[in-house]
Amino acid sequence: MGQEGIEFKTPGRERSGLPTARASGRSRRRQIKKTFNNLKITVLCGLVTILVLRGTIGVGNLGGPADADSDQKVVEDIDRILREIRSDSDPDDEPPLDSTASNSTTSAAANVTTAAKNYTLGPKISDWDEQRRRWLADHPEFPSRIAGGKPRILLVTGSPPSPCDNPIGDHYLLKGTKNKIDYCRLHGIEIVYNLVHLDLELAGYWAKLPLIRGLFLSHPEVEWIWWMDSDALFTDMAFEIPLSRYDAHNLVIHGYPDLLEQQSWIALNTGSFLLRNCQWSLDLLDTWAPMGPKGPVREEAGRILTANLKGRPAFEADDQSALIYLLISQQDRWSDKVYIENSYFLHGFWVGLVDKYEEMMDKHHPGLGDERWPFVTHFVGCKPCGSYGDYPVERCLGSMERAFNFADNQVLRLYGFGHRGLSSPRIRRTRNQTARPLEFKDQLNLQAKVSIG
Ligand code: UDP
Ligand code: MN
Repeated sequence: MGQEGIEFKTPGRERSGLPTARASGRSRRRQIKKTFNNLKITVLCGLVTILVLRGTIGVGNLGGPADADSDQKVVEDIDRILREIRSDSDPDDEPPLDSTASNSTTSAAANVTTAAKNYTLGPKISDWDEQRRRWLADHPEFPSRIAGGKPRILLVTGSPPSPCDNPIGDHYLLKGTKNKIDYCRLHGIEIVYNLVHLDLELAGYWAKLPLIRGLFLSHPEVEWIWWMDSDALFTDMAFEIPLSRYDAHNLVIHGYPDLLEQQSWIALNTGSFLLRNCQWSLDLLDTWAPMGPKGPVREEAGRILTANLKGRPAFEADDQSALIYLLISQQDRWSDKVYIENSYFLHGFWVGLVDKYEEMMDKHHPGLGDERWPFVTHFVGCKPCGSYGDYPVERCLGSMERAFNFADNQVLRLYGFGHRGLSSPRIRRTRNQTARPLEFKDQLNLQAKVSIG
């Protein structure tokens, strides 16, 4: 596939402003106000629920006479619990690395540099390949290849520890999770869903780094970790990653080499990539992470990234820009082990794909993985779990619903069902029932045409 489709893979390009996939919602004040508003709405919902319960099943009367005081107490409890689960900080947490920053600008800058330099993901490991090789030899019960000789893959995804700002976001996280479980079950891939910040310094989109490292070390039997964002959906349930193509590589990522050469901030997308469990990858993570610690380090690193990457708006350092910057500035060290893939959509920008699903169903079939039937549709800039995306929330949710159902049809077809339309959660039967289902099972292959009514 050439680059003719590049226009629609560019986050936010259709808007007049700069692409702001991660630049929006940076204002702390806006964030606080938003959280406060959410809390108010949630508490209000809690209050309404209690009142409804009292009215319908008399919950308020179970433990004695209900009065305004006890109602108030329940509301306060809910309020407190919500505040706790929404908060990322803990009074026992260690102080951040920059807590010693002084008032002087120079020493603050020096502190930032020192903090970035001193930051580590954990004890330095230099002989991982040897450690892992020995462990695998000692544990034949945990082979790094599965049936058929395929390398063992662990798909890793996750979302923030707290509920979404908008409850509908949690529904789409669930749909995204179901979609990934379906794909992984159909292709013998194991899956991890993470809901914690293993390192509070690397909260947000940086959370994948300590997570991937931790999983490499605790699962030496895994050959590849495949990171996939929560807002990326499998939309080709039949396509399989051509792993043998990457025998000589350690990082497989969707992108465009010429954009990388032009130092574009969207040359690569870190929403879906594969990393081999090896020393090279641990070294890459160690080199990648120091731009991530939140606070002054991440802010300062963001300024460096914006100054060096074409098209990057001003905002704190994000993992994607940091990786691009690393691959540009230390090309000799990394590039020969990085495979930049664009022959299929390991990541596919949703704008321009979601409106073409019907056309794809008319003309093509699953298993192609490219613009004819995209392997992954990634809702970059939508922030379904946050509040400030770059696109209207209705457009994002409607498009996510279509992508989910487009994929789900490929799964439901195996059981004889299909969605009534790409926007409908309702389904209809697409095959007559039979008392001898196994006679037809072999004809059901994932690559068959999918039609909807
Ligand atoms: N994420 C996470 N924990 C967090 C915040 C984010 O695991 O606390 C993950 C989540 O899977 C999310 C990804 O990081 O999809 C990257 O963020 P996002 O998709 O919002 O960025 P975009 O793709 O829009 O640039
Ligand atoms: Mn994403």
